Amino acid sequence: MAGIYKLTGVVKHYDWGGNTFIPALLKKINEKKIPHAEYWMGTHPLGQAVVDTGGSMPTELNAIANSLPYLFKVLDVKDMLSIQVHPSKEAAQIEFAREEAEGIPLDAPNRSYKDDNHKPELMVALSDFWLLHGFKPTEELMDILTNVTELNELLPVFNESGYTGLYKYVMEMPQHQVNRILHSLLNNLADIYQDESADRSLEDYWASKAAATFKKDENIDRGIFSIYLFNIVQLKKGEAIFQAAGVPHAYLEGQNVEIMANSDNVLRGGLTSKHIDVAELMKHVKCEATIPQIIMGDVNEEGERTYNTPVPDFTLSVFEMEKGDVSSFNPTTTEIVLLTEGVVEVDDDETTIKLQAGTPSAVVFPGATVYLAAAAKSVVFRASAAIHNR
Ligand SMILES: [Zn+2]
Repeated sequence: MAGIYKLTGVVKHYDWGGNTFIPALLKKINEKKIPHAEYWMGTHPLGQAVVDTGGSMPTELNAIANSLPYLFKVLDVKDMLSIQVHPSKEAAQIEFAREEAEGIPLDAPNRSYKDDNHKPELMVALSDFWLLHGFKPTEELMDILTNVTELNELLPVFNESGYTGLYKYVMEMPQHQVNRILHSLLNNLADIYQDESADRSLEDYWASKAAATFKKDENIDRGIFSIYLFNIVQLKKGEAIFQAAGVPHAYLEGQNVEIMANSDNVLRGGLTSKHIDVAELMKHVKCEATIPQIIMGDVNEEGERTYNTPVPDFTLSVFEMEKGDVSSFNPTTTEIVLLTEGVVEVDDDETTIKLQAGTPSAVVFPGATVYLAAAAKSVVFRASAAIHNR
């Protein structure tokens, strides 16, 4: 296959999604305010993108390309997502084989490993974006356990048994004890999350929002402890962060683009109504002090900003263009381009495609240099399966 084709991704209407951002990207009216959580661009079996090859019917992407090793997405997070950890590739291979041998059906609620792949994730913020990422460094963690009265009883646990002991303690704590501690903590917070000007860098803000979001009965979600134990990270537009195997994380609020290896291996640690397997979670979570590394990316002479990661599965880069700018790149794999702002013509000397709201994405095949010409101030992301030449 060669050339450039318009690509139409698949919208996922999960409850936590916002109802304006993705509809605006797709120039779609959403009168009934249905949540539009994710827009998937790839060959995942649960969300196969289609391409316009000029025939009367769109063609599924995997009919003209091999399955892609990555899945590229746009996310609009209105309500926070579950706390999660992804296994390493090696661990996923072992655990997937074990569950297969045990005969646990793939769609069973107690099935933890859906495939034998790792799920490294890289996200780039499209707006102010908030997330939880890794455990707080020691001093900060001790400060919060000291300053939040209701959490004082966790301090001796941390002093005696460190990060692993503390996390195991809150994840295995009997539900009545979770309720006792968190009930009195949450009572003092009221509904501060409803105040638009409330400080989102504070744990209390997200705890009050989580309590309202996940309230279903008298039992309180123990994931709320993690809001106090983990780093709260704010990314500005254009900044990126990488989720390596074992790092606990949860997206809290905002819009982003995300690229990940093709996998569904998610171990959950709260803020969810889904299955939590504490034993599996504890096997794979890295219980250690974490200083979040914000990735700014490196810009080449074409103005392409690349967000490098330690994994070989994918590369994500972005062109931030002014009106009249022209840039180019040479695709080496089946690649997807996505416009998140502006209007850009994509051209390979044979075909020209206009990316704009309504038709924001295209697939490009290797073989020819691809030129981008901005008709307005524009932002175009490029997802690739290869490591770029650096
Ligand atoms: Zn994740």
